[in-house]
Amino acid sequence: MSGSSTLSHPVLAERFIKQEGRAHWHDQALWFVRSKRDRIAATIPEWELLRETASNIKQHTLSKLADYLEEFERNAVAAGAVVHWAKDAAEHNAIVLSLLQKHGAKRIVKSKSMLTEECHLNPFLERNGISVVDTDLGEWIVQLRNEPPSHIVMPAIHTKREEIGELFHEKIGTEKGAIDPDYLVKAARGHLRQRFLEADAGLTGVNFAIAETGGFVVCTNEGNADLGTSLPKLHIASMGIEKLIPRKEDLGVFLRLLARSATGQPITTYSTHFHGPRAAGCELHIIIVDNGRSEIMGSEEFRRSLNCIRCGACMNTCPVYRRSGGHSYSAVVPGPIGSILAPSVDPAKHAALPYACSLCGSCTDVCPVKIDLHLQLYTWRNKLAVKRLIPASKRWGMAVASKVLGSPKLFNFAGRMARFWLPKLPRFLVYNRFNTWGKQRELPEAPNKSFREMSAERRATR
Ligand code: SF4
Repeated sequence: MSGSSTLSHPVLAERFIKQEGRAHWHDQALWFVRSKRDRIAATIPEWELLRETASNIKQHTLSKLADYLEEFERNAVAAGAVVHWAKDAAEHNAIVLSLLQKHGAKRIVKSKSMLTEECHLNPFLERNGISVVDTDLGEWIVQLRNEPPSHIVMPAIHTKREEIGELFHEKIGTEKGAIDPDYLVKAARGHLRQRFLEADAGLTGVNFAIAETGGFVVCTNEGNADLGTSLPKLHIASMGIEKLIPRKEDLGVFLRLLARSATGQPITTYSTHFHGPRAAGCELHIIIVDNGRSEIMGSEEFRRSLNCIRCGACMNTCPVYRRSGGHSYSAVVPGPIGSILAPSVDPAKHAALPYACSLCGSCTDVCPVKIDLHLQLYTWRNKLAVKRLIPASKRWGMAVASKVLGSPKLFNFAGRMARFWLPKLPRFLVYNRFNTWGKQRELPEAPNKSFREMSAERRATR
């Protein structure tokens, strides 16, 4: 579940913040979505009950996951699907390739699937002579830009209209300088329609797989999963083992939460149900993928992160994500949930991510399945410190802070010293490229009274 850039979050975040206009507009765009989510959630009196129920269903499912997976497989096979099991990304990709080769498929259309991003399926297939077109508009834009999605629901949210206009002009011949969204969307639709007609196979993700029926549901706003699976004879669906829910009556709980939490819509435009192949002569293959999830399930502290239904609400609300952009995380899933999942795969590479968090708890407050995100991020910090995977400067700083904050005498002494000495320090000791704190702020003015005098004044005015 990890991405590919080798630069750390602080370095990439700093680059993003330097593009002042983009950083501000990104922040505002996501806050708009977050506010929309709040307004629509407030119209559902039983919202908290829905969250509680969803969380309980997910926890129950994970506690009996092996049984539910077997039940799902039995019912999916009975409905005519072929079920494959992949222990990791390499196995998943090999299964997809062998199915495509068996059917002589050279062109596939894909609807949005974070799992195939996680498995780096597109470059793998292209290396093997198969052309892949991502058909979700945002996914297609980032595919044309040759970059990964920066958000799990709005993959191109970091991109401005002007950039999309320029990209479409270059790649599909739209008018130079055109930025009208209607015009650009119509042009994209016309181009993608042709790709749908030519496709030899359709690949989708899975939002919810239902053990009781062996069917699954794919949610899209553009209907691209429907188009991509209605024309070709081969449909391949990739799902992580955590996508299961036990019964079809559980589905309503999640569908009500998903769209409202993701974009503030009452329902996703298309919630398409698949039960077996669509017609005689067609094939449906479901690949159930582990790729590190069993290990997360074995961890008492992080198991609940598998409850995630990938709504993106924790990203929209996170003050760090909004200001640093999704690409700064260098992980397939960015934001708070990505900062929990990525270190599970490679703690050394992603050691900076649990620190990309103010511990404000806003992510936990909005999560529709009640994952205690900020507490898990805090737990990761402890684990990384114990593994000595954080920089020495941070370790020493924390050790000194722990001593000072643990002793009233030392704390008072440090306060007195800071009052007199900090303003007198040569500027280069505070404002240099090694001190991130000093890059963004000025030191506060030293007070002209002692802490004791200030405390006495505050007591007197109470
Ligand atoms: S952790 Fe919660 S809020 Fe974040 S994407 Fe997953 S379900 Fe949504």
